[in-house]
Amino acid sequence: MDFPSQTLDEICPCCRKSSWEFLYNSTFNHYNIPIFLCTSCGLQTQFPRPEASDLYTEEYYSGSADFSYRDERKTEKFDRYVWKARIKNILKFKPTKGEFLDVGCSFGGFLNCAKEAGFGVTGVEISPFSAEVAQSRGFKVFTGEFLDAALPENFFDVVTLIEVIEHLSEPLHVFAKLNRILKPGGLLLLQTANFEGWQALEAGPSYHYYLPGHFYYYSESNLKKILDQSGFTDHITYPGVDFSLSAKLLKSRGSFRSWCDYWKWIRIGIYHWKSKFKKKDRPLTSSMVLYSFKVE
Ligand SMILES: [Zn+2]
Repeated sequence: MDFPSQTLDEICPCCRKSSWEFLYNSTFNHYNIPIFLCTSCGLQTQFPRPEASDLYTEEYYSGSADFSYRDERKTEKFDRYVWKARIKNILKFKPTKGEFLDVGCSFGGFLNCAKEAGFGVTGVEISPFSAEVAQSRGFKVFTGEFLDAALPENFFDVVTLIEVIEHLSEPLHVFAKLNRILKPGGLLLLQTANFEGWQALEAGPSYHYYLPGHFYYYSESNLKKILDQSGFTDHITYPGVDFSLSAKLLKSRGSFRSWCDYWKWIRIGIYHWKSKFKKKDRPLTSSMVLYSFKVE
């Protein structure tokens, strides 16, 4: 194992202590990322961290970089099943159809579904390449980092970060800003990996969530602790995802190349079913969605 040349003495954004210990170098793919563990609260982080501007290039968003994002323009027709199912769930809590912000909005597919449901929509997107595409569809999109975005305070009814919070540095500033821009009672939706789940624990350094752009590795309990400290309340955890298996199955067809690919439905179904169960108080899988509300 390679030991890092640096030590980490930052204040932990979750427990506010500084008791980081080098855990291991990740072994997923060839990234070899140095991972530190907060021995006080269990939060993990990579350190040193790369510059965001080096990560989110056009190659990243078009899927051609080594570490990259799936180009959702090619599969939007299928992705819409999941986006629409998610909006339907959000409407159970926020039926007023107010102002909606998607941080990390990519090409604007999810914004489009929110708009169709009646929301006024805004996006934040770090990549000029994908932000331009979203803007060309008529959406208001700030290009750059979330902390640099000029956003109105006490304005949004819903703010979503789908697989985004783990990418952001300066978590305490991020959570404080999320609180400021939401209206009292506004809904914050976070989807990220739960490092308390057995899937992450059993995979250890080989867990697939250890990616160059993922700076913090949260868990259900330390996210709730941060949210409590940042002016949020009434947290709701959805183990797995906040929508039905059928939406997930319909979406998956976007990646199918032949009829043989339908066997993948069995794998997806088993994963979805497993995500609802716990062993020794920990969920079996490590996918998670959290809904949280700004204190009124
Ligand atoms: Zn900590």
